[in-house]
Amino acid sequence: MSRYWKWRRTSILLDTAEKLEVVEIPVYQSTGGPLFKTLYSSACRMDCLYCPLSYNCYTSREFWRRDKLIRVFIEAYKQRKVRGLFLSSGLYADPERVSEELVEIAVDLRRIGYNGYIHVRLMPGTPKRVIREALKITDRIGINLEAPGPSYFQEIAPSKGRWRTDLLSKLELVAREARKPLQVDTQFVLGGAGEPDIEYIALIHKLVKQKIGRIHFSPYTPIPGTKLAEINPHHTPQWRAKYLYEIFFLIKYYGFKPSYFIPLLDDKGCIPPSTMRIKDRLAELHPEWFPINLDTASFYELLKVPGIGPVRARRIINLREKGVKLTPRLIRHILGSAWRKAQKYLDLSTQGETLLEK
Ligand code: SF4
Repeated sequence: MSRYWKWRRTSILLDTAEKLEVVEIPVYQSTGGPLFKTLYSSACRMDCLYCPLSYNCYTSREFWRRDKLIRVFIEAYKQRKVRGLFLSSGLYADPERVSEELVEIAVDLRRIGYNGYIHVRLMPGTPKRVIREALKITDRIGINLEAPGPSYFQEIAPSKGRWRTDLLSKLELVAREARKPLQVDTQFVLGGAGEPDIEYIALIHKLVKQKIGRIHFSPYTPIPGTKLAEINPHHTPQWRAKYLYEIFFLIKYYGFKPSYFIPLLDDKGCIPPSTMRIKDRLAELHPEWFPINLDTASFYELLKVPGIGPVRARRIINLREKGVKLTPRLIRHILGSAWRKAQKYLDLSTQGETLLEK
Protein backbone atom coordinates (compact mmCIF):
# COMPACT_ATOMS: atom_id res chain seq x y z
CA MET A 1 0.00 0.00 0.00
CA SER A 2 1.24 3.45 -0.84
CA ARG A 3 2.25 5.74 1.99
CA TYR A 4 0.70 8.75 0.21
CA TRP A 5 -2.57 8.36 2.10
CA LYS A 6 -0.64 9.45 5.19
CA TRP A 7 -0.11 12.90 3.72
CA ARG A 8 -2.54 15.77 3.58
CA ARG A 9 -2.38 19.53 3.48
CA THR A 10 -3.93 21.91 5.93
CA SER A 11 -4.15 25.66 5.98
CA ILE A 12 -3.05 27.94 8.79
CA LEU A 13 -4.22 31.50 9.23
CA LEU A 14 -1.29 33.73 10.18
CA ASP A 15 -2.22 37.00 11.75
CA THR A 16 0.78 39.32 11.59
CA ALA A 17 0.95 43.04 12.29
CA GLU A 18 0.98 43.82 8.57
CA LYS A 19 -1.54 41.33 7.16
CA LEU A 20 -3.58 38.19 7.44
CA GLU A 21 -2.03 35.32 5.50
CA VAL A 22 -3.19 31.80 4.75
CA VAL A 23 -0.32 29.29 4.62
CA GLU A 24 -0.72 25.71 3.41
CA ILE A 25 1.39 23.16 5.23
CA PRO A 26 2.07 19.44 4.64
CA VAL A 27 0.85 17.19 7.45
CA TYR A 28 2.08 13.64 7.87
CA GLN A 29 -0.03 11.20 9.87
CA SER A 30 2.54 9.38 12.00
CA THR A 31 1.60 6.65 14.48
CA GLY A 32 1.86 9.21 17.29
CA GLY A 33 -0.36 11.79 15.58
CA PRO A 34 -0.16 14.43 12.84
CA LEU A 35 3.24 16.04 12.26
CA PHE A 36 4.20 19.16 10.38
CA LYS A 37 6.73 17.36 8.19
CA THR A 38 8.65 19.64 5.93
CA LEU A 39 11.94 20.35 4.23
CA TYR A 40 13.69 23.50 5.31
CA SER A 41 14.84 23.77 1.70
CA SER A 42 14.08 21.71 -1.38
CA ALA A 43 17.22 23.03 -3.08
CA CYS A 44 19.96 20.43 -3.20
CA ARG A 45 23.53 20.16 -4.46
CA MET A 46 23.55 16.37 -4.50
CA ASP A 47 22.60 14.01 -7.28
CA CYS A 48 21.04 11.04 -5.54
CA LEU A 49 19.82 9.07 -8.52
CA TYR A 50 16.40 8.20 -7.06
CA CYS A 51 15.51 11.68 -5.84
CA PRO A 52 13.42 14.28 -7.70
CA LEU A 53 15.19 17.01 -5.71
CA SER A 54 18.61 16.08 -7.12
CA TYR A 55 20.23 19.09 -8.75
CA ASN A 56 19.91 17.23 -12.06
CA CYS A 57 16.12 17.30 -11.88
CA TYR A 58 14.06 20.19 -13.06
CA THR A 59 11.70 21.20 -10.27
CA SER A 60 10.78 24.35 -8.39
CA ARG A 61 12.85 24.96 -5.26
CA GLU A 62 11.47 26.39 -2.06
CA PHE A 63 13.14 27.71 1.06
CA TRP A 64 11.51 28.51 4.39
CA ARG A 65 12.45 31.70 6.12
CA ARG A 66 13.40 30.56 9.58
CA ASP A 67 11.15 32.99 11.46
CA LYS A 68 8.19 32.16 9.23
CA LEU A 69 8.64 28.42 9.63
CA ILE A 70 8.64 28.82 13.40
CA ARG A 71 5.58 31.08 13.37
CA VAL A 72 3.60 28.79 11.07
CA PHE A 73 4.51 25.72 13.08
CA ILE A 74 3.61 27.29 16.43
CA GLU A 75 0.31 28.48 15.01
CA ALA A 76 -0.48 25.00 13.64
CA TYR A 77 0.45 23.51 17.01
CA LYS A 78 -1.72 25.97 18.94
CA GLN A 79 -4.63 25.24 16.62
CA ARG A 80 -4.04 21.50 17.35
CA LYS A 81 -3.58 20.73 13.68
CA VAL A 82 -0.25 19.05 14.38
CA ARG A 83 1.33 17.47 17.44
CA GLY A 84 4.95 18.10 16.50
CA LEU A 85 7.57 19.02 13.92
CA PHE A 86 9.58 16.74 11.63
CA LEU A 87 12.27 18.74 9.94
CA SER A 88 14.60 17.68 7.16
CA SER A 89 16.18 19.45 4.22
CA GLY A 90 17.84 19.19 0.86
CA LEU A 91 21.58 19.79 0.96
CA TYR A 92 21.50 23.38 -0.27
CA ALA A 93 24.90 24.02 1.39
CA ASP A 94 27.55 21.89 3.05
CA PRO A 95 26.12 19.26 5.43
CA GLU A 96 27.50 20.93 8.55
CA ARG A 97 25.71 24.17 7.80
CA VAL A 98 22.43 22.50 6.83
CA SER A 99 22.33 20.34 9.98
CA GLU A 100 23.34 23.32 12.06
CA GLU A 101 20.44 25.39 10.71
CA LEU A 102 17.94 22.60 11.39
CA VAL A 103 19.21 22.28 14.95
CA GLU A 104 19.09 26.05 15.41
CA ILE A 105 15.40 26.03 14.47
CA ALA A 106 14.84 23.41 17.18
CA VAL A 107 16.83 25.56 19.62
CA ASP A 108 14.72 28.61 18.75
CA LEU A 109 11.54 26.64 19.32
CA ARG A 110 12.71 25.54 22.77
CA ARG A 111 13.79 29.10 23.53
CA ILE A 112 10.29 30.43 22.95
CA GLY A 113 8.88 27.79 25.29
CA TYR A 114 7.77 25.05 22.90
CA ASN A 115 8.08 21.72 24.76
CA GLY A 116 6.48 19.39 22.24
CA TYR A 117 7.84 16.84 19.81
CA ILE A 118 10.75 17.67 17.47
CA HIS A 119 12.21 15.16 15.03
CA VAL A 120 15.26 16.30 13.08
CA ARG A 121 16.90 14.49 10.20
CA LEU A 122 20.62 15.15 10.22
CA MET A 123 22.71 15.30 7.07
CA PRO A 124 25.55 12.94 6.12
CA GLY A 125 28.80 13.94 7.80
CA THR A 126 27.21 16.12 10.50
CA PRO A 127 29.99 16.97 12.95
CA LYS A 128 29.91 15.73 16.55
CA ARG A 129 29.39 19.22 17.91
CA VAL A 130 26.12 19.63 16.00
CA ILE A 131 25.00 16.07 16.81
CA ARG A 132 25.52 16.76 20.52
CA GLU A 133 23.51 19.96 20.31
CA ALA A 134 20.69 18.06 18.58
CA LEU A 135 20.82 15.37 21.28
CA LYS A 136 20.10 17.98 23.94
CA ILE A 137 16.94 19.41 22.45
CA THR A 138 15.18 16.99 20.12
CA ASP A 139 12.93 13.99 20.72
CA ARG A 140 14.04 11.99 17.72
CA ILE A 141 17.05 12.10 15.42
CA GLY A 142 17.28 10.34 12.10
CA ILE A 143 20.20 9.78 9.76
CA ASN A 144 19.25 7.96 6.58
CA LEU A 145 21.57 5.14 5.53
CA GLU A 146 19.65 4.82 2.20
CA ALA A 147 21.34 1.53 1.21
CA PRO A 148 22.60 -1.51 3.15
CA GLY A 149 26.30 -0.99 2.37
CA PRO A 150 28.86 1.28 0.71
CA SER A 151 28.78 -0.28 -2.75
CA TYR A 152 24.97 -0.08 -3.03
CA PHE A 153 25.04 3.43 -1.62
CA GLN A 154 27.63 4.47 -4.18
CA GLU A 155 25.32 3.26 -6.95
CA ILE A 156 22.34 5.37 -5.91
CA ALA A 157 23.82 8.34 -4.02
CA PRO A 158 27.36 8.82 -5.36
CA SER A 159 27.85 12.37 -4.09
CA LYS A 160 26.14 12.10 -0.72
CA GLY A 161 29.26 11.21 1.25
CA ARG A 162 30.87 8.02 2.48
CA TRP A 163 28.44 5.42 3.76
CA ARG A 164 30.60 4.22 6.64
CA THR A 165 32.13 7.41 7.94
CA ASP A 166 29.50 10.03 7.05
CA LEU A 167 26.39 7.97 7.71
CA LEU A 168 26.82 4.73 9.66
CA SER A 169 29.36 6.05 12.16
CA LYS A 170 27.27 9.22 12.74
CA LEU A 171 24.16 7.16 13.29
CA GLU A 172 26.08 4.97 15.73
CA LEU A 173 27.31 8.04 17.58
CA VAL A 174 23.77 9.39 17.91
CA ALA A 175 22.53 6.02 19.20
CA ARG A 176 25.43 5.71 21.66
CA GLU A 177 24.90 9.12 23.17
CA ALA A 178 21.09 9.29 23.01
CA ARG A 179 19.41 9.22 26.40
CA LYS A 180 15.85 8.00 26.81
CA PRO A 181 13.25 8.99 25.74
CA LEU A 182 15.11 10.32 22.69
CA GLN A 183 14.73 7.92 19.78
CA VAL A 184 17.00 7.24 16.84
CA ASP A 185 15.91 6.09 13.42
CA THR A 186 17.15 5.49 9.91
CA GLN A 187 15.68 4.84 6.49
CA PHE A 188 16.50 2.78 3.40
CA VAL A 189 15.46 3.19 -0.22
CA LEU A 190 14.52 -0.46 -0.44
CA GLY A 191 15.47 -2.09 -3.73
CA GLY A 192 16.89 1.07 -5.30
CA ALA A 193 20.28 -0.49 -5.97
CA GLY A 194 18.91 -3.95 -6.73
CA GLU A 195 20.23 -5.19 -3.39
CA PRO A 196 18.93 -8.53 -2.06
CA ASP A 197 17.21 -8.95 1.33
CA ILE A 198 20.19 -10.86 2.73
CA GLU A 199 22.12 -7.57 2.82
CA TYR A 200 19.62 -6.18 5.29
CA ILE A 201 19.33 -9.05 7.74
CA ALA A 202 22.74 -8.83 9.43
CA LEU A 203 22.60 -5.04 9.28
CA ILE A 204 19.21 -4.94 11.04
CA HIS A 205 20.72 -7.09 13.79
CA LYS A 206 23.70 -4.75 14.12
CA LEU A 207 21.49 -1.64 14.21
CA VAL A 208 19.15 -3.16 16.78
CA LYS A 209 22.13 -4.04 19.01
CA GLN A 210 23.23 -0.43 18.71
CA LYS A 211 19.82 0.72 19.93
CA ILE A 212 18.52 2.18 16.70
CA GLY A 213 14.85 2.41 17.68
CA ARG A 214 13.23 2.33 14.28
CA ILE A 215 14.22 1.38 10.75
CA HIS A 216 12.07 2.55 7.85
CA PHE A 217 12.05 0.63 4.59
CA SER A 218 10.79 2.90 1.86
CA PRO A 219 10.12 0.77 -1.23
CA TYR A 220 11.88 2.25 -4.24
CA THR A 221 9.55 3.96 -6.70
CA PRO A 222 11.00 5.09 -10.03
CA ILE A 223 10.15 8.78 -10.35
CA PRO A 224 10.00 10.12 -13.90
CA GLY A 225 12.86 12.53 -14.55
CA THR A 226 15.27 10.90 -12.11
CA LYS A 227 18.35 9.07 -13.37
CA LEU A 228 17.52 5.90 -11.50
CA ALA A 229 14.11 5.61 -13.17
CA GLU A 230 15.96 5.05 -16.46
CA ILE A 231 18.35 2.48 -14.99
CA ASN A 232 15.91 0.67 -12.72
CA PRO A 233 12.27 1.14 -13.80
CA HIS A 234 10.94 -1.54 -11.39
CA HIS A 235 8.89 -0.60 -8.34
CA THR A 236 9.87 -2.47 -5.20
CA PRO A 237 6.76 -4.30 -4.02
CA GLN A 238 5.28 -3.24 -0.70
CA TRP A 239 5.35 -6.81 0.61
CA ARG A 240 9.13 -6.69 0.57
CA ALA A 241 9.10 -3.82 3.05
CA LYS A 242 6.50 -5.69 5.12
CA TYR A 243 8.81 -8.71 5.42
CA LEU A 244 11.75 -6.58 6.47
CA TYR A 245 9.64 -4.79 9.08
CA GLU A 246 8.63 -8.17 10.43
CA ILE A 247 12.27 -9.28 10.52
CA PHE A 248 13.17 -6.06 12.36
CA PHE A 249 10.50 -6.76 15.00
CA LEU A 250 11.49 -10.43 15.31
CA ILE A 251 15.12 -9.44 15.87
CA LYS A 252 14.34 -6.53 18.19
CA TYR A 253 11.55 -7.93 20.35
CA TYR A 254 11.74 -11.70 19.86
CA GLY A 255 15.51 -12.17 20.04
CA PHE A 256 15.69 -13.89 16.62
CA LYS A 257 19.20 -14.26 15.19
CA PRO A 258 20.16 -13.41 11.58
CA SER A 259 20.99 -17.08 10.91
CA TYR A 260 17.34 -18.07 11.59
CA PHE A 261 16.28 -16.30 8.39
CA ILE A 262 18.78 -17.93 6.02
CA PRO A 263 16.52 -20.89 5.07
CA LEU A 264 13.87 -18.38 3.97
CA LEU A 265 16.04 -16.92 1.23
CA ASP A 266 16.09 -18.00 -2.39
CA ASP A 267 19.34 -18.45 -4.34
CA LYS A 268 19.52 -14.70 -4.98
CA GLY A 269 19.33 -13.92 -1.26
CA CYS A 270 15.74 -12.64 -1.49
CA ILE A 271 12.63 -13.63 0.47
CA PRO A 272 10.06 -15.05 -1.96
CA PRO A 273 6.48 -13.80 -1.56
CA SER A 274 4.05 -15.93 0.42
CA THR A 275 0.68 -15.59 2.09
CA MET A 276 2.28 -16.70 5.38
CA ARG A 277 3.89 -14.40 7.91
CA ILE A 278 7.67 -14.63 8.32
CA LYS A 279 7.43 -16.10 11.83
CA ASP A 280 5.04 -18.84 10.67
CA ARG A 281 7.33 -19.64 7.75
CA LEU A 282 10.31 -19.89 10.09
CA ALA A 283 8.44 -22.32 12.32
CA GLU A 284 7.93 -24.60 9.28
CA LEU A 285 11.57 -24.23 8.24
CA HIS A 286 12.99 -24.94 11.71
CA PRO A 287 11.39 -28.20 12.91
CA GLU A 288 14.38 -28.60 15.28
CA TRP A 289 12.93 -25.78 17.47
CA PHE A 290 9.86 -27.81 18.38
CA PRO A 291 7.97 -29.16 20.22
CA ILE A 292 8.19 -26.62 23.03
CA ASN A 293 7.19 -27.49 26.56
CA LEU A 294 5.33 -24.63 28.23
CA ASP A 295 6.42 -25.79 31.70
CA THR A 296 10.13 -25.53 30.95
CA ALA A 297 10.70 -23.31 27.88
CA SER A 298 12.61 -20.06 28.28
CA PHE A 299 11.10 -16.70 27.29
CA TYR A 300 12.89 -16.74 23.93
CA GLU A 301 11.96 -20.36 23.21
CA LEU A 302 8.30 -19.49 23.82
CA LEU A 303 8.59 -16.61 21.37
CA LYS A 304 9.44 -19.03 18.57
CA VAL A 305 5.95 -20.53 18.72
CA PRO A 306 3.58 -18.99 16.14
CA GLY A 307 0.90 -17.12 18.04
CA ILE A 308 3.04 -16.50 21.13
CA GLY A 309 4.40 -12.96 21.36
CA PRO A 310 6.16 -11.15 24.19
CA VAL A 311 2.93 -10.49 26.15
CA ARG A 312 1.78 -14.12 26.15
CA ALA A 313 5.30 -15.43 26.77
CA ARG A 314 5.77 -13.08 29.74
CA ARG A 315 2.39 -14.15 31.12
CA ILE A 316 3.31 -17.84 30.93
CA ILE A 317 6.67 -17.20 32.65
CA ASN A 318 5.04 -15.06 35.38
CA LEU A 319 2.48 -17.76 36.14
CA ARG A 320 5.21 -20.38 36.31
CA GLU A 321 7.27 -18.20 38.64
CA LYS A 322 4.27 -17.85 40.94
CA GLY A 323 3.96 -21.66 41.03
CA VAL A 324 0.65 -21.69 39.13
CA LYS A 325 0.06 -24.97 37.34
CA LEU A 326 -0.48 -24.49 33.63
CA THR A 327 -3.64 -26.51 33.22
CA PRO A 328 -5.16 -27.22 29.80
CA ARG A 329 -7.94 -24.71 30.49
CA LEU A 330 -5.45 -22.01 31.53
CA ILE A 331 -3.23 -22.55 28.48
CA ARG A 332 -6.16 -22.25 26.14
CA HIS A 333 -7.26 -19.13 27.96
CA ILE A 334 -3.79 -17.52 27.66
CA LEU A 335 -3.38 -18.42 24.00
CA GLY A 336 -6.91 -17.44 23.07
CA SER A 337 -7.35 -17.20 19.31
CA ALA A 338 -3.68 -18.17 18.81
CA TRP A 339 -4.35 -21.63 20.19
CA ARG A 340 -5.20 -23.23 16.85
CA LYS A 341 -1.97 -21.98 15.31
CA ALA A 342 0.26 -22.72 18.30
CA GLN A 343 -0.88 -26.18 19.37
CA LYS A 344 1.03 -28.22 16.81
CA TYR A 345 4.32 -26.73 18.05
CA LEU A 346 3.76 -27.55 21.72
CA ASP A 347 4.75 -30.53 23.82
CA LEU A 348 1.76 -30.89 26.11
CA SER A 349 2.83 -34.13 27.76
CA THR A 350 3.32 -32.50 31.17
CA GLN A 351 -0.14 -30.95 31.14
CA GLY A 352 -1.58 -34.30 32.15
CA GLU A 353 -4.16 -34.52 29.40
CA THR A 354 -4.31 -33.81 25.74
CA LEU A 355 -5.26 -30.36 24.53
CA LEU A 356 -5.41 -31.26 20.91
CA GLU A 357 -8.54 -30.27 19.06
CA LYS A 358 -10.54 -33.11 17.82
S1 SF4 B 1 20.62 14.79 -0.56
FE1 SF4 B 1 18.48 14.39 -0.13
S2 SF4 B 1 17.33 15.97 -1.21
FE2 SF4 B 1 19.41 15.95 -2.06
S3 SF4 B 1 19.30 14.62 -3.83
FE3 SF4 B 1 19.94 13.36 -2.13
S4 SF4 B 1 18.04 12.49 -1.26
FE4 SF4 B 1 17.47 14.24 -2.60
